Amino acid sequence: MQVLQGKSIFTGYVCLKALSIRHDRPVFSHEKCKNDEECKAELASFRNACAEVVATLHQLMDKAGGDEEVSILEAQSFMVQDPEFHREIAHLISCGQYKAAPAVEIAAQNFINVLSSAGSSVSRENVSDIQDIAVRIISSLTKESLLRVRLDEKSVLVADTILPSELMSLNKEYIAAICLDGGGQTSHVAILARAMNIPCIMGLKDASSLVKTGSLVALDAYTGTLYIDPDDETVKRINALHERSLAEEKELSEDAVLPAITKDGRRIYLECNIEGLDFVQPSLRNGAEGVGLFRTEFLLMEEGKTYSEDEQTAVYSRLARRFRSRGPVTIRTYDMGGDKIIKDMKSDEDNPVLGWRAVRFCMSEKEIFRTQLRAILRSSTSGRLQIMFPMISGSDELDSVLDYFEEVKEECRKEGIAFDEDMKVGTMIEVPSAAITSDILARKVDFFSVGTNDLTQYTIAVDRGNEKISYLYKEYHIALLRLLRLTAENAHKEGIGLSICGEMAGNPLYIPLVIGLGYDTLSMNPASLLNARKLIRSINYSDCLTLAKEAGNMTSCRDIEKLLEKFHAEIGDTE
Ligand code: PEP
Ligand code: MG
Repeated sequence: MQVLQGKSIFTGYVCLKALSIRHDRPVFSHEKCKNDEECKAELASFRNACAEVVATLHQLMDKAGGDEEVSILEAQSFMVQDPEFHREIAHLISCGQYKAAPAVEIAAQNFINVLSSAGSSVSRENVSDIQDIAVRIISSLTKESLLRVRLDEKSVLVADTILPSELMSLNKEYIAAICLDGGGQTSHVAILARAMNIPCIMGLKDASSLVKTGSLVALDAYTGTLYIDPDDETVKRINALHERSLAEEKELSEDAVLPAITKDGRRIYLECNIEGLDFVQPSLRNGAEGVGLFRTEFLLMEEGKTYSEDEQTAVYSRLARRFRSRGPVTIRTYDMGGDKIIKDMKSDEDNPVLGWRAVRFCMSEKEIFRTQLRAILRSSTSGRLQIMFPMISGSDELDSVLDYFEEVKEECRKEGIAFDEDMKVGTMIEVPSAAITSDILARKVDFFSVGTNDLTQYTIAVDRGNEKISYLYKEYHIALLRLLRLTAENAHKEGIGLSICGEMAGNPLYIPLVIGLGYDTLSMNPASLLNARKLIRSINYSDCLTLAKEAGNMTSCRDIEKLLEKFHAEIGDTE
C-alpha cells in the first residue's frame, strides 16, 4: 500500500477501482508488431486512418465559417498527406516494428523537434497543428473519441489534470471520486466537483503516474489522503467511515427546512451556485433560498454549442419557475475565458485570465451577448429572475454594459416582448478595481455579489488553479478583508443587496468572518448548504462581529488564520 497526501476539495470516503489518465502520455500500448504481416497491416491501417482524417478535414472545410479556418484545415490536410511524414512512419513501422498509433506519436514529436532545433521560428500554431493531426490520426486508428477521458463504469478518476469541459462531458454517474496531481481550491474543476457532490482530492503530485488503471484505491477525502492498493484493514476502515458519513448526512438533511438564523437572531440567506438544471434538485433538497449564481457559460461547455435564444429562454424560465416559491434566481451572463474555454473560442493570448473574457468577450461578440440578454428578459416573467454581470472592472465598463442592456430592452419593447421592467440588475465584485470603486458602482446597480475566487486571485496576483503557489492563495488575506469590508460598507450606504458567491461563502472556517463583515446572503455549492445552515444556527452574530473586528486589526495572515481556527474549534466544542 502506498499513501499520498493532497488537499481535500470535497469530502467523502470511497474505495473503488481507478481509471488513471495522463494527458501527456499516450493512452495506447507501446507493444510492438510481432511479424512482418502485422507491420504490413499496421501500415495499411495508418493509410486508411489518414484517408479518413483527410475526408473529415474536407468536411470541416465545407462547413467552415471563415477563410482563416479554411486555411488552417487546408494546412492540416496537407500535413496529413506529407510524403516525408508518411516515409518516417513507414520506417518506424517496418524497421522499428512500432504499431501505427505510437509510430504517429513518435513521428509527430520528431517533426516538432526537428523544426525547433533547425532554429526555424516554430510558432505555437505549427506545433499545435502537428499535435492536432497526430491526435486525429490516432483517434481514427484506435477508434477512441478525441476526448482522452472515457468512463464506462463507476471509477475513481486519477489524472494529472482535467479540463472543466472534459469533466462536464463525462457521465457523472460513473465518477466516484476525482484525484488530481495539481489543481487549486477554487479552480473550476474544484468548483464543479463540489457542485456535483464528487469526493475530490487535489495536489497529489505523482498520483497519476503511480496509480494504474484497474487497481484499487481508497480515499479519505476529509483529510485529503489517497491509499494506492490499500490493505484489507484500510479498505474496511474507509468503507465503515463511508457508511457512517451517509447516516450523518441524512441527519443533517432533516434540518434543511430550518432557516439559517444565528442564536442571537441574525437572519442569513443561503442561496446556491449552480452550473445547469441538473443541480436544481440537490439545491432545493438542501434548502437553497434562491440561486445566487448561475454560471451560464457551463451550458456552452457541456454541449459544445451556442444555445439559441429559445433554448436559453427554456432553461432560464424553467429555473425561475422551480425557484418561484423559494427566492430569486440570479443569471450571471456568460463568463467564459480563463480556464473556461468554450468551443469556437480559440484564443492565443499570453494572459487569458487577464484577457478577453466575460463581459469583455460579450461586448465584442455582441450577437452572442444580445441573444443571451434577450433570453434572460423573456424568461423574467416566469419568476424572480435577476441579472448579474461578471468581471466588471470599473464604472465605465459597467456603464457600457448597462447601456447595451438598455438597448436590448428597448428592442424587446418595440417587438412587444413582455419582460419584468423591474428586474434587478447586479454586478459581481471580483476585480480589485471594482471593489475599490464600489462606492461609485453601488449607485448604478441593485446588488453586489462578491466573487472571492477571482477577487483573491487578482488581489494577491496568485493563479487560483496553480498548485505550486496555492500556499499564497488566502481568502482571509489582510488586503481581501479590507476589500470585503469596503464593498460591504458601500453597498450598505446605498442600500443595495449584498452577497458573496465565491467559494469562501460555503467554507465553514470563513462563514462567521464574512457574516461579521456585514454579508447576510451567502451563495454556495448545493452540497455545502446543510453544513453552513447547521453552523450558522450554532453561533452568535455578536461573536461574528467581534471576530471580524479582531481579524481586521491583525497584521499577519498567519494570525488571522489562527484566530479563525480557534473560533471554529470553540464552536465545535459547544455544539
Ligand atoms: C468568483 O470568482 O468568485 C466566482 C464566483 O466566479 P467564478 O468562480 O465562476 O469565476
Ligand atoms: Mg469569477
